[in-house]
Amino acid sequence: MNKKPVKAEVAQVRKSLLQRLTQAEAAWMLGVTTSWLRDHAELDGRNVDDSYNAAKLVASVRQKFQPAELSDSDLEPSLQLVDEISMCLSFPRTAAELLARISERHGPAGLAAVGERLLVALQEATSFTTGFEDPDEPTAEELREECERRIRDLDQWQARRQGRVALVCRSCRSYRWGRKWLAIESLPADFAMDAVHCPACCAEQEKQERKRKR
Ligand SMILES: [Zn+2]
Repeated sequence: MNKKPVKAEVAQVRKSLLQRLTQAEAAWMLGVTTSWLRDHAELDGRNVDDSYNAAKLVASVRQKFQPAELSDSDLEPSLQLVDEISMCLSFPRTAAELLARISERHGPAGLAAVGERLLVALQEATSFTTGFEDPDEPTAEELREECERRIRDLDQWQARRQGRVALVCRSCRSYRWGRKWLAIESLPADFAMDAVHCPACCAEQEKQERKRKR
């Protein structure tokens, strides 16, 4: 008897077996339970007689549980989102360890679960009418105010850099000038201001407190 036809026959039998796995065999092959397989009815590879085509099933599982190939136009804003999130983390090392652990345990599907939670959290946060909303387009008036504020900030910065800073009392608005405390009106406009309490106001406050205690 010729050996070659037998070998080819065996290969043919194997192939046809792999095209018609039972549910238990298919689950065993994927390393999952049969109920997991039943829960994922959306996977390809199920034949009309409820047997499974191994090649189609594996290809479908692979596609489902691989990170999607994002287009550049989706990837760029996604990268920026990730940059923004990772910059405001209080404990980036802890977050990195958590994601690595999830990735190790569940693969890309685990990371997708985190992504889904992020989506839900952002949708919930933006569903309220107050807070967490994207800023509206500023009006011309708001833009002008913003520019003026920035110019004031720049002026303040210049003043501080050049040593023009005055300590101004929160209560009586006088400012310290050497040994004296002067009325705010005489302070040059190009001085930056730091808020303090002047000795007179401090003394007055202490007096009031002593009175209250008596
Ligand atoms: Zn004062």
